[in-house]
Amino acid sequence: MECQSTSPSRRNDGIAPPGQKERTLAEHEGAGKLSRSPDSQLADSQPPLGIRLHWSQASLKGICQSPMHCLFCKEESTGSRSQEHIIPESLGNTRHVLPVGLVCDSCNNYFSREVEKPFLESAAITVLRFHQAIPSKRGRVPSVQGVLVPRFPVMCWKEPKDSVLAHVALEEDGLKHLLSYDTGRIIIPAEGVPPSDRVVSRFLGKAGLEALASRLVRYPEGLKYLVTEPQLDPVRDHARRGTLPDWPYHVRRIYDANRTSPDERGSMVQVVHEFDILQTDSSEYYFILAIFGLEFALNLGGPEVDGYLAWLNCHEGASPLYWGRNAG
Ligand SMILES: [Zn+2]
Repeated sequence: MECQSTSPSRRNDGIAPPGQKERTLAEHEGAGKLSRSPDSQLADSQPPLGIRLHWSQASLKGICQSPMHCLFCKEESTGSRSQEHIIPESLGNTRHVLPVGLVCDSCNNYFSREVEKPFLESAAITVLRFHQAIPSKRGRVPSVQGVLVPRFPVMCWKEPKDSVLAHVALEEDGLKHLLSYDTGRIIIPAEGVPPSDRVVSRFLGKAGLEALASRLVRYPEGLKYLVTEPQLDPVRDHARRGTLPDWPYHVRRIYDANRTSPDERGSMVQVVHEFDILQTDSSEYYFILAIFGLEFALNLGGPEVDGYLAWLNCHEGASPLYWGRNAG
């Protein structure tokens, strides 16, 4: 397979604050395509690269004219009032939200209950949120069950944003055991069982389509295209209805979960999550999401990842989140 050359790097100019990055990307050949004709509306609707994605609800009133239709169920959503977060608030996202009405109230409630909750409450994500002290939208860091050696159960919890200090609660027999010795050892799980592939792929499909919509938020024709484009029906149905038993995705670790790096002001920060859309040179659109360095890639055009493997092969295994105009 021939690898095409790519355009010179250009930094994305500050779309998001530290820890909530969003960036833009590049191209390669592959399968499972979301095909695009030369006069595709999506191509015409693509905003300039590096466009800032900040907006206010007030500024959107003139953009999202009535009637609006839901990105997922396609029903009229003009009267919907829910605020849809592309990444859940319980993963630290406070600013990547869609304009009210792009996702209807019914779909918003469904995603919260049936797609995001199973992902967030899986053992792996719960343990990750505990260790990194990421609070829920109600401000509570999830607790985890540990063990006071040799066998006494311990409940462990943390205050929001304090990833170092953990509180523990012991039952009476454990407390007696601890008091009868000068010291004790508590074992806390370092990781948990990951969510099922189906839970992950539905979570990625929902967030990915919304990430694509966030790119087009200032382009009403582009948003209309996303709602009506039949090639996107499989991913919207998978996210909203779970129609497919499986939708393969690619996952790998691209940096350690505890890595810190300097932000624009020189303060050392951890990246909680970052995401972007990778467009390959065969017009596949991949949603790329990293949560504490664990990178997921999902093809928004169809249930296969061969094109992403080919892209990685041609780009020395680099992450699209740190390649091309995202580099540096
Ligand atoms: Zn809907």
